[in-house]
Amino acid sequence: MNSNFYTLSLTVDAQGVATVSIDIQDRAVNVLTPELRRDLGAAIERIASDDAIKGALLTSSKTGPFIAGADIKELVLAFDAGMTPRKGIELVAELGAQLRRLETCGKPVACAMNGSALGGGLEVALACHWRVLADDAVVALPEVGLGLLPGGGGTQRLPRLIGVEKAAPILLGGQPVKAADALALGIVNQVVPAGDVVAAARAWLLGAPEAVQPWDVKGYRVPGGAGPMAPHAVKTFTLGTAITSRNTQRNYPAPLAILSCLYEGTQVPIEVGLRIEGKYFGQLLSGPVARNLMRTMFINKNSADKLVRRPAGVDKSKVRKVGVLGAGMMGAGIAYTSALAGIDVVLLDTTQQAAEKGKDYSAQLLQKNIQRGKMPEAKAAAVLERILATTDYGDLRDCDLVVEAVFENRAVKADVTRKAAEVIASSAVFASNTSTLPITSLSEHFPRPRNFIGLHFFSPVDKMPLVEVIVGRDTSDETLARALDYVGQLKKTPIVVNDSPGFFTSRVFSTYIQEGALMLEEGVSPALIENAARQAGFPVGPFAVSDEVTLELQLKVIEQNLQDGQPETPGLSRVLGVLRTLVGEHGRIGKRAGAGYYDYPAPGVEGRKALWAGLAQIWPMKENQPAVEEVKARLLYIQAIETTRCFEEDVISHPADADLGSILGIGFPSWTGGVASFIDTLGLPAFVAECERLASTYGPRFAPSPWLKDKADNGESFHPPLSSIV
Ligand code: NAD
Repeated sequence: MNSNFYTLSLTVDAQGVATVSIDIQDRAVNVLTPELRRDLGAAIERIASDDAIKGALLTSSKTGPFIAGADIKELVLAFDAGMTPRKGIELVAELGAQLRRLETCGKPVACAMNGSALGGGLEVALACHWRVLADDAVVALPEVGLGLLPGGGGTQRLPRLIGVEKAAPILLGGQPVKAADALALGIVNQVVPAGDVVAAARAWLLGAPEAVQPWDVKGYRVPGGAGPMAPHAVKTFTLGTAITSRNTQRNYPAPLAILSCLYEGTQVPIEVGLRIEGKYFGQLLSGPVARNLMRTMFINKNSADKLVRRPAGVDKSKVRKVGVLGAGMMGAGIAYTSALAGIDVVLLDTTQQAAEKGKDYSAQLLQKNIQRGKMPEAKAAAVLERILATTDYGDLRDCDLVVEAVFENRAVKADVTRKAAEVIASSAVFASNTSTLPITSLSEHFPRPRNFIGLHFFSPVDKMPLVEVIVGRDTSDETLARALDYVGQLKKTPIVVNDSPGFFTSRVFSTYIQEGALMLEEGVSPALIENAARQAGFPVGPFAVSDEVTLELQLKVIEQNLQDGQPETPGLSRVLGVLRTLVGEHGRIGKRAGAGYYDYPAPGVEGRKALWAGLAQIWPMKENQPAVEEVKARLLYIQAIETTRCFEEDVISHPADADLGSILGIGFPSWTGGVASFIDTLGLPAFVAECERLASTYGPRFAPSPWLKDKADNGESFHPPLSSIV
């Protein structure tokens, strides 16, 4: 008798082999929705209790992943609805019990994975007695990246199958394991072409195999040992905990929870191990880090990648040929990324040599790809061929879109904008990659300001995933839609902001490096500032990153802004003092010059950078140094309060954009979920109170505005509750 459930079908053939084929009707991919869990439970019950069924195989009717993991939206909504550790345990307990029932039902069960098995998908497979994987698929337990751990038995069955030592990096790294490696590690039993997985699983079932998991056999021992006396224990647990603590600065609870599951869970019977896993899962799911990471880095990033901010009613467009003005660091990167996406590129500079140098950048990156076996030579050659290096504006004639990436200088930008406008089609979009100059003011040099927009890429363009799209006063909806289509072609994540000096990311980021300079000037130890920044989760401290940007450029930008009539913000004159002292009096321009806040070893000389000893002479360290928590707070809150001003001034309108922009563009710690999530997690009243304290201690740059205080008083938050992500 065959059964059709909403999310799967169960058929039984003449030999008594039950085939459970998963196919969630209204979803493009199979994910472990409540409906699938319910149906899977019913199917398992039938397999266990129906005497006509001698063995079973699980597979998927969809192409693509076998099962792509949990339903992340469900988990985020559950958090917003009031998740507690106990409810978290209950959420996974049902699937856990079903999978345990499956592996102990006394009948052999095979898993025929015709596509990748990710997260919960692999956990279902691990509860089967035999696993067959398609040769082009991968397996992975990526939960750690979302602040969680595999709650469907993954932290218990994987180490019991392949040993704790081999399981730990898979669980802690979350990286995909290719089919051949999964076979070599013993995660799967067979690797065959995708079309053959079901036949292979059937053949195994018909061979009257054992229907018991290794860990249910009397006398079973975890491969390689478990507990404190295992030969690998010092490496896996003692060193592992130290390295994990250093890497995460204890801002991310999931990796340590995974190590605890491995340590505690593998010393006890599997049922107890599964309960231990459930306990840690519940703790993580009810904590803000997992919710914030899932919401920003999964749900909102996916929406942004699908161009959620694209205005409706504009036909989908595709850039076939892009013009890039300026073949420097940014232009060369934009040219490479565009060519890689299959777009023809006209790369223009003032001399043929400069243009060719920009094209060479692509040649070098492509060569690296070939050497690493990531790209066949023929493909690399085709990508490079797409780039035309030129000095002739006439070559821009049939470009659909032009990106300007010349020097950050108004006159130079105005000149190239006018020259390009003369040759390109009247329908073409013109984008500026300026990092600070207001887009509306630059569009004055373009005859069709409706077609003018800002596309702010980040350096290095080939690695940085974010593009900040800036809408000028006159930018049309069509231009925005077409610019977003181009960002989509490049497979980058866009956020959309309104025009203002520094837009969103540069404006917020500048407060971070300026706060560093202000603390230095106050006599706070520069080493304390840099270390506190890394402890807070920033990839680099404010001085290291200042040196990268160059102190000279910062000085130029601030001076240009003041010349342009931008009001002087509190503390800015003191920052200017620091920069002028370093650049003007001591010639410390930044990393490129070998001297900034740090001293750098001369080119070709071994050694590490070190904070310049002269800093202490110019700005003597005060006797009473602040607590590291206070320094962390200043670095986090100064960016957060600036973000609230960006909301108030409508520079940014969506909290998801603020979150993504801050994490992907300017290195705001991802454990916070981004700068808007950081504020919401604290709660606006608490955030406002702390800003007031900081303002009274360090100055009005921390002061919350009446608008923000009203928002706090009214019980509002930046992210609307619940319904926002449904
Ligand atoms: P860069 O100095 O490396 O490159 C600028 C290029 O423009 C040079 O190759 C130069 O020869 C060329 N150029 C100058 N005048 C020209 C003209 N009249 N016609 C054609 N080409 C001309 O600078 P970059 O770092 O690539 O920055 C370019 C733009 O991107 C700037 O507006 C900058 O603010 C912005 N930006 C820079 C970064 C960054 O991290 N460097 C990040 C985002 C945005």
